[in-house]
Amino acid sequence: SARHEGPAHLCFYTARMGGAMRERIGLETMLCQAIARREFVLQYQPRIGMTDGRMVGVEALVRWRHPQLGLLAPGRFIPLAEESGLINELDMWVLREACVRAAAWCAQGLFSGRMSVNLSARQFQQPGLAQRVRAVLADSGLAPAALELEITESTVMHDTEDAADVLRSLRALGVTVSIDDFGTGYSSLSYLKRFPLDVLKIDRAFVRDLDGDATGAAIVRAIITLAHSLGLSAVAEGVETAEQVAFLKENGCDEIQGYYFSRPVWPDEIARLLAEAAGAWSTVSPHPVIQP
Ligand code: C2E
Ligand code: MG
Ligand code: MG
Ligand code: MG
Repeated sequence: SARHEGPAHLCFYTARMGGAMRERIGLETMLCQAIARREFVLQYQPRIGMTDGRMVGVEALVRWRHPQLGLLAPGRFIPLAEESGLINELDMWVLREACVRAAAWCAQGLFSGRMSVNLSARQFQQPGLAQRVRAVLADSGLAPAALELEITESTVMHDTEDAADVLRSLRALGVTVSIDDFGTGYSSLSYLKRFPLDVLKIDRAFVRDLDGDATGAAIVRAIITLAHSLGLSAVAEGVETAEQVAFLKENGCDEIQGYYFSRPVWPDEIARLLAEAAGAWSTVSPHPVIQP
């Protein structure tokens, strides 16, 4: 195992540290080789348009097919990749893979929506992002309008002057830019009007709170109103119940994403869904949850 091959100081630490730390060191060592070993894979989660219930796009979500531990969710390795700087390479791999996949679906006449890709703060702050995105689009043949980049609130708040420039350069390519996990960043709202953006993605914590008291509903309604008054569209994530769908529809949310429609699934499943009934999904009747 990596533990035995590692340098002496790693062995020293692993002997003294608990299981969590040992796992962490083991993962970090293997993470460095995971791209070359082609161990990263993408699942895609459908995004549904509220007006007609059709699949309007998908979000690419990375998983690590670890040789010993099986399929790992991003929460297990993204923080490590961020600390080690490997996240830049990983994000670029994801971007390329997702664009190639979307271009193939477009070429097959299956897909006319948007492919959404998450960008880490590090990737966003790395100089030359727009040029790299442009190159990936050109190589894959994907139209810029078919790509959406998701950036968290804290990422754009980090250095607002630079962030505005980066956002402008991305928008100039013709790609869509969304703020992910909106409402969790504890930041001033004044930045919103200065940043060129397209979409606010309402964090799933707020969607979950719809089931609680009236305050949860008031907050979601306020975010949708805020998005619309800034000329942005509102997307809800983490939608799990028919009641949540009804509330979001009633309150003018533009698109929704969540287990109610589908978990993140393998590309074959997306292709099948797109082909089936030309991607028509019902927003009124419950849809069976699709297991990956
Ligand atoms: P995110 O971008 O906010 O993605 C949504 C997460 O919510 C995904 O978790 C998705 O599987 C989960 N989700 C979707 N619908 C539901 C639902 O109805 N209920 C619940 N409870 N969860 C739902 P996942 O795949 O574990 O990803 C977690 C986070 O990891 C993502 O949050 C994103 O921040 C990050 N991530 C994923 N892929 C990438 C990537 O390629 N690059 C970077 N930098 N980050 C990524
Ligand atoms: Mg996202
Ligand atoms: Mg999110
Ligand atoms: Mg998140």
